[in-house]
Amino acid sequence: MKQPFSDATFLASSAGAADMPPPGPPEIAFAGRSNVGKSSAINALLGRRRLAFTSKTPGRTQTLNFFALGEAARLVDLPGYGFARVPKAMRAQWQALVGAYIGSRRTLVGVVMIMDARHPLTPLDEQLLHFLGDVPLLVLLSKADKLTRKEQAAVLGAVATAVPGQARLFSSVTRQGVDECRSLLEQWLEQPGSGRRLE
Ligand code: GDP
Repeated sequence: MKQPFSDATFLASSAGAADMPPPGPPEIAFAGRSNVGKSSAINALLGRRRLAFTSKTPGRTQTLNFFALGEAARLVDLPGYGFARVPKAMRAQWQALVGAYIGSRRTLVGVVMIMDARHPLTPLDEQLLHFLGDVPLLVLLSKADKLTRKEQAAVLGAVATAVPGQARLFSSVTRQGVDECRSLLEQWLEQPGSGRRLE
């Protein structure tokens, strides 16, 4: 496969199950609490300065943002969660949108969840993990540059044993973990018949 992460273009924004683009190539979705470093991680993986430009204003309509990675894959940026003082109705909207996508998208091959290496596994992270069920998972422990080596090893060990998937340390500042993450995602995409069988 050509390197899909070097050829990203914006495809569509979707505010509900009804207006998602028709399923096509395998999709990898990115999720995480607001401000956790998700856009920076996506941009680091794609080698871009500003591709993921999702609005950060609390209260704005939340959307799924679809990007084409060449013709062989797609990246889906899920709306961030966990703003303080977000109205209940918006939380319900987030759950409906993300739940509909994760629960029904047969071309979804895996979810990358970004967690702050200093504050992993918040209650909202746990809720999202619960949503994922058996979807393949890679947890990136972001802003790892803010931790000492010893702290990094401790948090990696703790999270790796707590989540039903893989975990890696990540920093979009030092680029720690960027190349390794890219190769893990390429492996997801290369699996024959990648995509779930949802009947
Ligand atoms: P998002 O809301 O999850 O998309 O988060 P952003 O990517 O916009 O990042 C939120 C803030 O964290 C910004 O001020 C970034 O500069 C900072 N940030 C993101 N990634 C890193 C990282 O790896 N290391 C450090 N030190 N700061 C980061």
